[in-house]
Amino acid sequence: MALIVQKYGGSSVADAEAIKRVAQRIVAQKKAGHDVVVVVSAMGDTTDELLDLAEKVSPMPPARELDMLVTAGERMSMAVVAMAIEDLGYEARSFTGSQAGVITTSLHGNAKIIDVTPGRIQEAVGEGAICIVAGFQGVSQDTKDITSLGRGGSDTTAVALAGALNADACEIYSDVDGVFTADPRVVPSARRIPQLSYEEMLEMAASGTKILHLRCVEYARQYNIPLHVRSSFSQKPGTWIVSEVEESEGMEQPIISGVSHDRSEAKITVVGVPDKVGEAATIFKALSDAEINIDMIVQNVSAVSTSRTDISFTVAKDAGKEAVAALKKVQEKVGYDSLRYDDQIGKVSLIGAGMRSYPGVTARFFDAIAASDTNVEMISTSEIRISVIVGEDQIDAAVRAAHSEFQLDSDQVEAVVYGGTGR
Ligand code: ASP
Ligand code: MG
Repeated sequence: MALIVQKYGGSSVADAEAIKRVAQRIVAQKKAGHDVVVVVSAMGDTTDELLDLAEKVSPMPPARELDMLVTAGERMSMAVVAMAIEDLGYEARSFTGSQAGVITTSLHGNAKIIDVTPGRIQEAVGEGAICIVAGFQGVSQDTKDITSLGRGGSDTTAVALAGALNADACEIYSDVDGVFTADPRVVPSARRIPQLSYEEMLEMAASGTKILHLRCVEYARQYNIPLHVRSSFSQKPGTWIVSEVEESEGMEQPIISGVSHDRSEAKITVVGVPDKVGEAATIFKALSDAEINIDMIVQNVSAVSTSRTDISFTVAKDAGKEAVAALKKVQEKVGYDSLRYDDQIGKVSLIGAGMRSYPGVTARFFDAIAASDTNVEMISTSEIRISVIVGEDQIDAAVRAAHSEFQLDSDQVEAVVYGGTGR
């Protein structure tokens, strides 16, 4: 007998039919003799609809009230899932994040989990009930207000709960059959990855693969919780995310796990920065004071004739306006000439733990990118990742080129997207 935490995403609980199907799956685990704790997301596009509603009512809703509103989506799901389970003859009890003991920081809209004290869940499980917990939310330790964990945060609820409950496994159900070597909408021949290490999944999540919330993977690694990512619409084996990928018999692990892309960033260039000590520090201090996260950075060598240089970096498009405003404030102090803002860009990344010990990966990647006629604007690397910034209209071609260069294409179409509106 094991304790299993399952998490169902929005498209898995989109309507009454879907909820009944999910209830069957949950009950099947219980019938097999396991204890089950379930985390649910809001039904379908509910979160987006609630945000749209708030925007219509007020252009700048108070953060506290916005969290009260959006977290209601998950509370609807938990109640109806519990009802569907009761209808199958099993005892189910639903709990809000706060009731489940999810304690967070007080930052509305993007709170972080500090602690999970799941006393009520343990008690209910001990009494034989199936627990359904509302994902994406908690209660602030200081203010006692309800907080939300940021978009996609239900994954993190599931992993944090699994950690606190010392669960044997954490299953993340969505509308695709696992993690693929590329986004199947861009590369239809993308292949399912049977096993991935936490570090590879972290790099993928950080470079645009949306299947798992980044913080959820960080948690899973920290507490060493194996994650099983699969579809609630099929019985396919999915993807396991574990600390060490096993070498299957007679088969070496591929050097490259996948190619991810990200369309959510913009590039800012600070033009004509005087080549003096401390200029970069002033620029990045201004951005950090405005709480803006920077991704890639490139500084060119200064031109001999002018002793000036350009510094380019990328930020989330959402933070673009604030970044420009923060930089304008230090224009005089730094003495730069002008700013350039470009949001017609994207990031393409090649990820694989194997590249650490194989020479030539970088050369092959750039060769493939060049052959797809894509111009590289910026480059950054980690031990197991190479990322490039390219023009927005070249993202798809670059992803496909890198994907085939490393022989990741499957000869049959494996990727089925079962649900979701892609919103
Ligand atoms: N419902 C929330 C969202 O759409 C949280 C989640 O789905 O994980 O972002
Ligand atoms: Mg969702």
